[in-house]
Amino acid sequence: MKEISNNTLEKISQQYSTPVYVYHAERIEFQYNRLKSAFKNVDVQLHYAMKALNNINILKLMKNMGSGLDAVSIEEVELGLMAGFEPHQIMYTPNCVDFDEIISAVEKGVVINIDNISILEQYGAKYGSSVPCCLRLNPHIMAGGHSHISVGHIDSKFGISIYQLRHVQRVVESQGIRVNGLHMHTGSDILDADVFLRGADLLFDAAADFPELEFMDFGSGFKVGYKEGDIVTDIEEMGAKISTAFNEFCERYGRKLSLWFEPGKFIVSEAGSLLVKANVIKQTTSTVFVGVNSGQNHLIRPMFYDAYHHIENISNPKGTTRLYSIVGYICETDTLGYDRQLPEVREGDILRIRNAGAYAFSMSNNYNARLRPAEVLVKNDNYYLIREREKLQDLLVNQIELDL
Ligand SMILES: *Cc1c(COP(=O)(O)O)cnc(C)c1O
Repeated sequence: MKEISNNTLEKISQQYSTPVYVYHAERIEFQYNRLKSAFKNVDVQLHYAMKALNNINILKLMKNMGSGLDAVSIEEVELGLMAGFEPHQIMYTPNCVDFDEIISAVEKGVVINIDNISILEQYGAKYGSSVPCCLRLNPHIMAGGHSHISVGHIDSKFGISIYQLRHVQRVVESQGIRVNGLHMHTGSDILDADVFLRGADLLFDAAADFPELEFMDFGSGFKVGYKEGDIVTDIEEMGAKISTAFNEFCERYGRKLSLWFEPGKFIVSEAGSLLVKANVIKQTTSTVFVGVNSGQNHLIRPMFYDAYHHIENISNPKGTTRLYSIVGYICETDTLGYDRQLPEVREGDILRIRNAGAYAFSMSNNYNARLRPAEVLVKNDNYYLIREREKLQDLLVNQIELDL
């Protein structure tokens, strides 16, 4: 698959100015197809975790490839429906929401995933056996990586503990609830198939108590490379191992079920770049800073998760390599990259920040009254503006100006 050329990126930065997010449609398609085809002889269904990147054009791209959606709020459910998804293609996996929100989701006809016994009881009382639901279980498998993104451990707020299964069964039986799926999502950054399989085994065991299952959903956590030498999930190996284990399980269960996943990062991370401009070069006693026209307001992952995002100077790729720290313009220590070797950066150069497809624009904000960037989609060697840069008036949209 051909990468977007620096030439195209420079054209985009000239036409739409910076900062600007650029997404590569072919890369998204490639990742989707690669993941999908890693599973053999199973009915695998991918539900794209739309919280990673939810521009409506990206959602439509997913829909055209045959993906479903994983939505974590009623607003995401509504956006998914607006993008043209059928309700049954949307998995709604909320956490700590008001029961009214779950009622709205049932009314819209989407697949409901319940992660709390109190909610399950309310669900049973209201719907009995009339509307099935999936159960989000927490197998307490520790995914590797940063503690903020491990959600399967014992202190996690996510899911119903596997140790509470007996209680779950009693609620389900007494209220006649139809459980159509079992779900787990152990968090981002799962390194190998064996971690998955340990969690999967627990779900396979739990399945014996739920005779009406239609699917098993193993969430996500597929790791992509952010820098050279990073350990990444071996998708093909994982796909083969999980497919085998799943087919053996279906055999024992007595019926073929569908196998669901909810990838976010794996599908869109590498497809996105944030283009920023070097505003100033600032030499201090210890460091040469490149101050850019962006910061934690547009890309918070480096500060929030300590994430590494590779940075390139696309305006001077052949320049002499020098050592820089790349920082934002926000009144916070918003370092985008420490001690990076870059071809000499001159004021006005365009820097490309990689892996900015997932949890990048979708986590952006207006801190310091800064405006959110534009978004551009590159597809078949053409590029399209898919979101305008915010305007100053946007900051006042919901404010009520009074003369008090
Ligand atoms: C965030 C999330 C995902 C996606 O995780 P990635 O690491 O981006 O693939 C999947 N399922 C649920 C329930 C999530 O909250």
